[in-house]
Amino acid sequence: MAAKEPLKYLRTEIVQESHSKDKGECGTESSCCDLDRFVAGVQGFKNRFYERYPEHMQKLVTEGQRPVALMIACSDSRVDPALLLNVAPGDLFVVRNVANLVPPYRPSQGPDGVGAALEYAVHHLEVPHIIVLGHAQCGGIKALLNMATGSGFPSDFIGEWVSMAMDACWQYVPNKDGEGMRQVSLERLKDYSYLVERAAIQGSLANLLTYPWVKEAVEAGRLFLQGWWFDLESGDLWVTSGDNTQFLPVTD
Ligand SMILES: [Zn+2]
Repeated sequence: MAAKEPLKYLRTEIVQESHSKDKGECGTESSCCDLDRFVAGVQGFKNRFYERYPEHMQKLVTEGQRPVALMIACSDSRVDPALLLNVAPGDLFVVRNVANLVPPYRPSQGPDGVGAALEYAVHHLEVPHIIVLGHAQCGGIKALLNMATGSGFPSDFIGEWVSMAMDACWQYVPNKDGEGMRQVSLERLKDYSYLVERAAIQGSLANLLTYPWVKEAVEAGRLFLQGWWFDLESGDLWVTSGDNTQFLPVTD
């Protein structure tokens, strides 16, 4: 298989794996519609995990989950936490939303999906790690910058949601130029959106500490927070320093 077609190879492998035992009418990617391919993916998942690791899967049923981390990730289809981390079922508790944002603690302001996932992960699952995973080319951050510069599009939900990251943008994006004099304009930041993507991660980490039980667990040494920024162009991962002031590369 040519190296230039790894994705096609992967998809075809899954489809062939799922159909090889029965009808055999669907051996190539092109003969399947997308939903067929998704169902074939579930079949491949079943073959991989339920047939090869039955004890692990049974343990997840009888003993429940014990994930190593809660990951707060973007909804972006290009940055799937389970694919990226190559984890097995039970390893990762995940909440995803546009731009991987964590709202500040606000228990009395109506239903809150992030708060509910956080509470379950920290209180009930007692995860030892929370990772906020952001990424390059984030559409949510682009929407934030477009909205803030007056070039956004009307929206029912997106604008209000991503505006949550505006404070983090001001707080964590370096706001001086090389001579330490002028503020960097939001318009100019559009060309350096990775700075805002990283700032949003830092803001989410800061907001996590507004949840009293998260703060308590962190201070007790039972819970560790980290921000990750995935470079979609190079495939490299950057992580926050211990004091949440900068990102450092960890892959090569
Ligand atoms: Zn994104």
